[in-house]
Amino acid sequence: ASIIELDRLSKHYSSSIVAVDNVTFAVEDGEFVTLLGPSGCGKSTLLRMIGGFEDPTDGAIWLAGKNVTWDPPHRRDVNMVFQDYALFPHMTVGENIGYGLKLKKLNRTEIGTSVQGALSLVGLEDKIDQHPYQLSGGQRQRIALARAIVRRPKVLLLDEPLSALDAKLRGQMQLELKHLHEKVGISFIMVTHDQTEALVMSDRVVVMDSGRVAQEGSPNLLYDNP
Ligand code: ADP
Ligand code: ADP
Repeated sequence: ASIIELDRLSKHYSSSIVAVDNVTFAVEDGEFVTLLGPSGCGKSTLLRMIGGFEDPTDGAIWLAGKNVTWDPPHRRDVNMVFQDYALFPHMTVGENIGYGLKLKKLNRTEIGTSVQGALSLVGLEDKIDQHPYQLSGGQRQRIALARAIVRRPKVLLLDEPLSALDAKLRGQMQLELKHLHEKVGISFIMVTHDQTEALVMSDRVVVMDSGRVAQEGSPNLLYDNP
């Protein structure tokens, strides 16, 4: 079944800037989809609309059968990871990951268990009392991922999550992220301009060009017919 359906979604920033132009596609439950295309083709705008950080000009977004087009981010069962991590510098790793659970009024034990679970998914249980500045770039990104999945949203949105990392670490994190997806079983939608990354990581690639879907299919299909 599909978890997300985009129905003729458009975003016009002005009469001359059409960032997203009449995009229709669905994402299946548990699927890993990448949005691939050159800078400026509308990938981030599309992702931000799914997350609720940007209002569409036209069209609709359905999440698990519910029309969420005009719902604010916190009313959607999705979460987003940004390329600059956006961790709270004054909080420990544990506090960063547990912050959203505290707002939800979960008790200490529930928060502790969830935080431990999320940390073990990214292999950083021993960093729980450290601060972000004490961690490497790769570790910070793992903590940002742990924070994003701690409440098990239906969909995780990732905007160029690995682009701040150097080439070697990037290759390693591509595999880690793919394994994380397999372990948590929620849908991932990831923006990238790196074709190899899209092919290595995802179940399906949606290629965008000038705000439209130019092509879509499994990595094998696109690789054989580029
Ligand atoms: P990317 O292409 O990697 O998404 P950009 O550097 O193009 O990032 O954009 C960075 C930020 O500036 C984004 O938040 C985007 O919404 C905003 N932005 C991009 N283009 C414009 C523009 N023409 N006018 C105003 N804001 C813009
Ligand atoms: P991508 O993520 O593929 O790099 P974006 O979604 O960031 O593409 O941008 C798509 C188009 O919309 C670009 O022409 C960009 O300059 C423009 N754009 C993005 N954000 C804004 C904004 N906040 N205001 C005006 N134009 C924007």
